[in-house]
Amino acid sequence: MTEHARYTVTVDRDACDGVFACLVRDPRFVEDDDGLAGIDPEAAASLERTDATVTATFADDRRGDAEQAAAACPLDAIAVRDAADAEVEP
Ligand code: SF4
Repeated sequence: MTEHARYTVTVDRDACDGVFACLVRDPRFVEDDDGLAGIDPEAAASLERTDATVTATFADDRRGDAEQAAAACPLDAIAVRDAADAEVEP
């Protein structure tokens, strides 16, 4: 099996305004109960949600999709980062 570099996708829920340009670029983004962008937990290796943010970690070949979604977001509410930058392994 091919190993993919881990990366995280964070939605800033304070910045998100439910425009949903992201869903069209990457179907792993979903509308959550508050009408804001969330991330499909089934698609993520792990998912952490607070009132302010949703952060999912992925290890797949779809980082480009997430980056397109981030670029399409008119409110700049999506950040895609190397997982190593965002978390420290225990
Ligand atoms: S495109 Fe941006 S503002 Fe719109 S739902 Fe997605 S994250 Fe929120």
